Amino acid sequence: MVKRRRVRDSSSPNVKMAQFQLPLLPYEKNALEPHISEKTLTFHYEKHHAGYLAKLNGLMESAPFDANSLEDVIVQSSKNEEYSAIFNNAAQVWNHSFYWESMSPKGGGQPTGVMLDLILQSFGSYDSFVKEFTNLGMGQFGSGWVWLVLRKDLLHVTKTPNAHSPIEQGIRPLLVCDVWEHAYYLEYQNRRADYLSVFLNHLVNWEKAQERFQNI
Ligand code: MN
Repeated sequence: MVKRRRVRDSSSPNVKMAQFQLPLLPYEKNALEPHISEKTLTFHYEKHHAGYLAKLNGLMESAPFDANSLEDVIVQSSKNEEYSAIFNNAAQVWNHSFYWESMSPKGGGQPTGVMLDLILQSFGSYDSFVKEFTNLGMGQFGSGWVWLVLRKDLLHVTKTPNAHSPIEQGIRPLLVCDVWEHAYYLEYQNRRADYLSVFLNHLVNWEKAQERFQNI
């Protein structure tokens, strides 16, 4: 996940400069083709994700609070409207890092093992999960995110607008799909349903979801 590097300026030892860093993509930029093109992934990672990170690092130089991790920054800034710029950029950095790892070139389709058992316990069937996830993705008006989360030992799907994330409420997500238009417009234009279908059928990384589940 995103790490923060503390650097002390030796000429003025009381000045702290904190920098978050962009995590490497877990695959090549063309690895999700033909479902998500190299062009989309390049813009999404190098312009959008890196852009949020650059803004966050700029804002953190004069942040009114100290925090040791990106999650700390998100939780602290989410409590006060005054810090909305910090919140939006911090959460978008976190959400995108989480999204890249929620996909895999070898992903998609019905999971097996632990994740299938959890899906069946929580939704009754894999098809019910797909329907609920897709309906939430379609129902998110404007920009946002669709999540698979763990709450009280069961899986749930939930959506958040703009930069918001379940971690603000201390809820642990296992997967996320970015439904901002910039995630899919070049390939799918306004056809968000097609993008959600491709995400579930060809990209979703159940191995990572299981690893996240086992680390909670
Ligand atoms: Mn995005």
